[in-house]
Amino acid sequence: MPTITRGYAAHSATTPLVPFSFDRRELRPDDVAIELLYCGVCHSDLHTARNDWGGTLYTVVPGHEMIGRVTAVGQDVTRFKPGDHVGVGCLVDSCRHCTPCDHGLEQYCTEKVFSYSSVDLHDHSVTQGGYSERVVVSERFVLRIPEGIDLKGAAPLLCAGITMWSPLRHWNVGKGSHVAITGLGGLGHMGLKLAKAMGAHVTLFTRSPGKEADARRLGADEVVLTSDEKQMTAATAKFELIVDTVPYVHDLNPYIPTLKVDGTLVLVGFLGPLEPELNTVPLVLERKAVAGSLIGGIPETQEMLDFCGTNAITADVEMIRMQEINEAYERMLKSDVKYRFVIDIASLRA
Ligand code: NAP
Ligand code: ZN
Repeated sequence: MPTITRGYAAHSATTPLVPFSFDRRELRPDDVAIELLYCGVCHSDLHTARNDWGGTLYTVVPGHEMIGRVTAVGQDVTRFKPGDHVGVGCLVDSCRHCTPCDHGLEQYCTEKVFSYSSVDLHDHSVTQGGYSERVVVSERFVLRIPEGIDLKGAAPLLCAGITMWSPLRHWNVGKGSHVAITGLGGLGHMGLKLAKAMGAHVTLFTRSPGKEADARRLGADEVVLTSDEKQMTAATAKFELIVDTVPYVHDLNPYIPTLKVDGTLVLVGFLGPLEPELNTVPLVLERKAVAGSLIGGIPETQEMLDFCGTNAITADVEMIRMQEINEAYERMLKSDVKYRFVIDIASLRA
């Protein structure tokens, strides 16, 4: 029997999230049933709820930074048992046999299934995310949560954490690397913590003058105010890698001179045509690159979680009740959160 599940959903791009009940499927042989405890609030939840990217499948229950406890497992499940603490991020399925899947890069599978507003490959139902009491997910897409880690602070690792970890690893950040993170929000603050723990010299690019002390506490060695031309000039040719988390269109041209020869600016925030246009001359003259990166695969997500367990890294979170989600979205738009809202799912059951 499917299980009736309470959650919060957006019925359209212009209406607030409201209580919503829906069915979670019966367990398939490889499924894990999870009672959710906490769910982080990502800017992508807001983009999807408000159809910023187009293509949202309404009614949508957002949420892809899920932490919970296993309540039941299907007959073929071998890695999890009832009582285990587990996580689920942005991905809940993929084709499992293409080249990206074979390499643990499920995020680049053309048939990947996101945790919400996506279509299940088997029963063609629309997936619903973690602003809900429980979730049912194939074992392959369930993550182990390291012993002893703070579960509330671990929730944002499932999206914000892995979205920063994947490019930092792919572009070989390590001891002595010079890395910059653009934007101090949910993703950005994880970027500072992770890059610092990997041994890099870390700089924050921010538009906000008030964030310097926090940035240094979170791991930044330097802070550059992007509106200050002198500070931008002083950062010329400093970085091998910049990871840019800014969610809305912005001018990339001022960042290119701050890359070293062969440096790469990786976009993880903004999706869409650039404005103003990107001048390619400095890219060609100094073999610089502008690239993109999408969350991370399942093996690298586990690697990141284990690294965070070993190094005691979690997100800085502000806990909210489910009923406060619409206010949280408005505050997130004003960057008024230090640095990730996390929903206490118990508030849905109260
Ligand atoms: P967030 O918490 O709202 O942080 C965004 C930060 O960007 C802000 O704190 C702000 O930092 C900076 N910013 C600069 N200009 C801004 C503007 N006009 N409006 C708002 N913020 C501005 O968002 P997030 O959850 O970190 O997500 C960042 C972006 O990454 C979103 O677009 C999200 O959808 C996307 N995302 C992508 C992936 C992926 O796989 N590629 C995964 C998750 C999220 P300062 O004040 O320091 O400048
Ligand atoms: Zn996210």
